[in-house]
Amino acid sequence: MVLALHGIAAAPGIAIGPARKLDPGLPEPRCRRVPPEAVPREVARLRAALRAAAGELQALRSRLPPELPAEVGAFLETHRLMLADPAIAQAPLARIRRERWAAEWALELARRELVAAFDAIEDPYLRARRVDVEQVIGRVARHLAEGPRRGEPHGGAAGVTGMVVVCAELDPAEAALLAGQGAAALVVEGGGPLSHAAILARSLGLPCVMGMHGALAWLREGEPLVVDGRAGVVLAGADPRLLAACRRAGAGERRERRALARLRAEPARTRDGREVVLRANVELPEDLRAARRVAAAGVGLYRTEFLFAGRAEPPPEEEQYRTYARMVRALRGQPLTIRTLDLGVDKAAGFAPGPAPGTSPALGLRAVRLCLREPALFLAQLRAILRASAHGPVRLMIPMLSSLRELEQVLALVERAKAELARARRRFDPGLPVGAMIEVPAAALAAGRFARRLDFLSIGTNDLIQYTLAIDRVDEQVAHLYDPLHPAVLALIRAVVHAGRRARVPVALCGEMAADPRYTRLLLGLGLTELSIHPAFLLEVKAAVRATHVARAAQLVRRILAAPHPEAAERLLERLNAL
Ligand code: PEP
Ligand code: MG
Repeated sequence: MVLALHGIAAAPGIAIGPARKLDPGLPEPRCRRVPPEAVPREVARLRAALRAAAGELQALRSRLPPELPAEVGAFLETHRLMLADPAIAQAPLARIRRERWAAEWALELARRELVAAFDAIEDPYLRARRVDVEQVIGRVARHLAEGPRRGEPHGGAAGVTGMVVVCAELDPAEAALLAGQGAAALVVEGGGPLSHAAILARSLGLPCVMGMHGALAWLREGEPLVVDGRAGVVLAGADPRLLAACRRAGAGERRERRALARLRAEPARTRDGREVVLRANVELPEDLRAARRVAAAGVGLYRTEFLFAGRAEPPPEEEQYRTYARMVRALRGQPLTIRTLDLGVDKAAGFAPGPAPGTSPALGLRAVRLCLREPALFLAQLRAILRASAHGPVRLMIPMLSSLRELEQVLALVERAKAELARARRRFDPGLPVGAMIEVPAAALAAGRFARRLDFLSIGTNDLIQYTLAIDRVDEQVAHLYDPLHPAVLALIRAVVHAGRRARVPVALCGEMAADPRYTRLLLGLGLTELSIHPAFLLEVKAAVRATHVARAAQLVRRILAAPHPEAAERLLERLNAL
């Protein structure tokens, strides 16, 4: 009988191999005090475990296979630095001295405090970093329990070549090492797609399913497993025929991935010879490496709020400037489109007002509205962006504009920031292009008026769909109503493209719709020539661009726009994609 277990898709790819269970089997820490004379011993034990954990990370880093991406080493270094943080390196030692806890319990108390602090963060990316805290402390706990085991994950994972590794938790260091040792895939009981181990598995091309609760209990050592990292599914007990079919699917997927990788150097040109600009959406400066790996034409959307989120104070102008300038230099002449702060709704920071109780945050004080209410905060970011423009091409992009009055206020503040910098004799590009995201239906309908005052527009379909269809994009209960093919959404996209054309202002699209190759022909047929996409999906979209004949697509797109009901629009989209 086939057993199908469903978890969270963390890294795509199909792999087949025997199960290799790695169970650290650490005992639950016990709440235990020690007599006063035992305090120095407990302090020494914890110190030794901290040292051993740091030494282990250092050793892992020095043994990384050279073909691994640079971020693997950076992950290990982050964990090593976290070990030196006073909350981990000093607080539990002080607790042992003050409260006479056993080393294990003092460490557990530190873990609980840090986890509670991370859980309180609203930003999902930063909240997911709690996993790193757990992993770093778990590494120390392992050394406390069993003494140092020099760099072997889970007490010795040698002999994992070609195997599907099943484990309770996985930290990035272990993921890197398992990949280096030739593991075929990873199945992890905990974790999620935003964990560093998952990000790493994706960049290593190692299929991975996370959040697979009960995997260690359900799966037997050595039994053949099929892992589908894109679907987040693990199959056990497959018969030879099913195994053969999965093997063929896996080989097909690998072929596709190799073919996609070859597309890196090819132009994003349609069959009828139209050039399409494919830029990257990035959230952290480190994402630029992924953008470079897929040869993105610069950055079409840098979401700066990740620099601000979860902090008690906004990052100072100088820190922002250094971050932006580093990114500009890393892009070597390709543009960096910096979106000004889009806080509110799903991203929060301690220094910005949250939504009033009982109100709808998506309709409240977010993005540019918040920035105009806090001009000092906004001006600091504008100055930092302007200063970064002295190092290479930068474009400034305003999120969520809804009225021309707002636009005028923004442009006046940009001029004021320029004047302040000029007075301080700071260098900047006086012609810095200023553009806006069109993500509110009002702005889409009045796009012509915005276009005449701006250098570029970029359609943010994630929000445009939310506001057009009145569907909260973070509410699972209405997620099924979120429809990019809705005639109103398509009509608004077309209106913005036309407005841009009339005003001779370039129009891009940077919402998730751009990253789905099912919509590539539709978007090109609507007249778009620039898309900004998460690097993980850029090559798939490039393949779709290269398979499109825009003139032929445009005819069917007109029929999709006029489709009498959603099923007809879906059927026409299928026909368009089969052209
Ligand atoms: C959008 O709304 O489409 C967009 C790209 O911005 P964000 O997802 O950051 O709101
Ligand atoms: Mg948006």
